[in-house]
Amino acid sequence: MFESIRKWRRERVLKVAAIPDPLWQEALEALPFLDPWTDAEIARLRDLAVLFLDAKSIIGAQGHEVTPLQRVVIAVQACVLVLNLDLAYYDGWESVVVYPDEFVPGWEWEDEAGVVHRNEEPMAGEAMLRGPVVLSWPDVAASADWDTAGMNLVIHEFAHKIDMQNAEANGCPPLPAGMSVPAWRATMAAAYADFCARVDRDEELAIDPYAAETPAEFFAVLSEVFFADPALLVDEYPDVYAQFARFYRQDPAARAPSARERG
Ligand SMILES: [Zn+2]
Repeated sequence: MFESIRKWRRERVLKVAAIPDPLWQEALEALPFLDPWTDAEIARLRDLAVLFLDAKSIIGAQGHEVTPLQRVVIAVQACVLVLNLDLAYYDGWESVVVYPDEFVPGWEWEDEAGVVHRNEEPMAGEAMLRGPVVLSWPDVAASADWDTAGMNLVIHEFAHKIDMQNAEANGCPPLPAGMSVPAWRATMAAAYADFCARVDRDEELAIDPYAAETPAEFFAVLSEVFFADPALLVDEYPDVYAQFARFYRQDPAARAPSARERG
C-alpha cells in the first residue's frame, strides 16, 4: 500500500509542480554539457528536477533572491548525478542555500590543543554533513558551461553529498550490492596517487589540480569530469571511469555528441 501512496504522491507532484516549458528550455540552454543527452534522458531529468524541487528548499542568503531559473538550473545539475540512482541519495538534509557571492563559512573547529579556529577563506560552495548545500550563485552561473569554466560547482557539491551518505566525505560513497568496496578503493587510491604525483611534478593538467587536496575532493572533481567532459576521464583514468559508470549507472562517454536537437 505504501508503494502505491508513494506512486500517487509522485504523480501528483509531477502534475502540480511541473516546470513550464519556456523555463525548462532556458535552463537547458544555460547547461550546454547536456546537449548530447537523449530526449528520453532529458525527459526523465525534468521529472527528477520537479521531485527534487518539491523535496528540498532553495533559499537565498544575504539578500540574494533566488529566481525560478536559478532554482531549475541548480535542481537539474543536482539530478544529473542521480538520474539512474534514486533521489534517496539526497535524503537526510533539507535545503540548498544560495549566496549572492563567495561566502565565508560560519563554522569553527577545535584542534588537538583545544584552540578554536575559524575559516576566513571565502568559498564558492560547500556541502555540509547532514546539513545544507551552500552555493555562490555567480560561481554556479560561471560553471554551468563546462567548455569555458572547466569545472561544475553544483555537480561537485552534490557529489560530496552522495559521498556523505554513509559518513564524512572520504571518496567512497555507499556502493550498491554487486560493486566491490576494495576494488573501488584500490582503483581510486591508485589514480589519486598518480594524480598527486603529477601535481607535485608541476605537470600541466587537464583536470583541476584541486582534486589532489584529499580523496574526497578527488571523487568530487572527477565526478564533474565524468558528467561534463566524459572523454577526458576515459583518456586520463579509464579505470575510474569504469567504476563511476557502474556506480552512477550511466555511460556519458557513449552519448552521441548531437543525439538531441533542441526544440
Ligand atoms: Zn569539494
